[in-house]
Amino acid sequence: MEPGWRASTSHAEPAEITPGIWRLPVPLPGHSIGYVNSYALIAPEGVLLIDVGWRSDESWDALDQLLRGVGSSARDVRRVLLTHFHPDHCGQAGLFVDASIGMHPIDAGHLYDRFVDQTPYRAEMMRWVDATGSPDAVREVSLTQLTRSKARVAPLVPDHLVVDGEVIKHDRWELTAFHTPGHTGGHLCFYERTSRLLFSGDHVFPHIKTSPAFRPQCSADPVGDYLRSLTRLATLPVDLVLPGHQEPFEGFDERLGQLRQHHAERLSLCERLVAGGASTVWEVASLVPRSRTWDQLNAAAKISSMGETYAHLVHLAATGRATREGSAPITWGG
Ligand SMILES: [Zn+2]
Ligand SMILES: [Zn+2]
Repeated sequence: MEPGWRASTSHAEPAEITPGIWRLPVPLPGHSIGYVNSYALIAPEGVLLIDVGWRSDESWDALDQLLRGVGSSARDVRRVLLTHFHPDHCGQAGLFVDASIGMHPIDAGHLYDRFVDQTPYRAEMMRWVDATGSPDAVREVSLTQLTRSKARVAPLVPDHLVVDGEVIKHDRWELTAFHTPGHTGGHLCFYERTSRLLFSGDHVFPHIKTSPAFRPQCSADPVGDYLRSLTRLATLPVDLVLPGHQEPFEGFDERLGQLRQHHAERLSLCERLVAGGASTVWEVASLVPRSRTWDQLNAAAKISSMGETYAHLVHLAATGRATREGSAPITWGG
């Protein structure tokens, strides 16, 4: 493939990946990661978008401007495909009232509890906080996060439940959906065979290594799911990976190897920390080496870090490398 892609110097500009396929970096005001990549497949019959950013006036105006910058507009969007249900990817989908909205049925099944009536989910989140052995202050922050996330998703009812292996045709392109659970239970990657492009959502990034986390209503073993999903994609010939955040990148095989190694090392580290006496998710997470100390992290970053650590501990228990007892908190043992 001869991609038209060149590393852009500005995050605010659309960039053509290959003729007709554009990367549109949609700003996420207030999100530490800065922006989400929306990908536009532009054809005479209309535009197909993969992921659309969260609901905010700034994000919506930016997406419309980015589409205008490539000779189109929000009104030309006929189809939206969502890699997963997180607000930064799906939040604006419901604003495309004339478009078909596609996502995996597992993630579609989370929309009501997460963004319509959160009552049961909020109770489950409190049990999650208790299970981690976190101090009480974490409860308040996690509930505030849920309130915010609901405000970032426009009412959304997908009319197309996309299943593994399904081929979605749009003009000259054929997108094959790959169910890649791990980051969420219904995460999808989309592979375009003729241009050998992989739209990887939040499954594979060029720099971020964290993807699976253990949260209420997630699968029984997100890390196990994630590692199996990596293996499934390893057979694909990929020239360019188009992630949900950060820059498109080449070297997919090498990146898969790095990710596998990262999770193997993280599992070994968690195993050692538990054997050394750390017994709760909070304690193990606080001992994981990182660029900033645990005390320097704000509560949101601690919650995020605990979700990752929790997922690794669950995988250790699922594979017989750790024990777990109790529920509030769960006590992990070697
Ligand atoms: Zn996500
Ligand atoms: Zn994301």
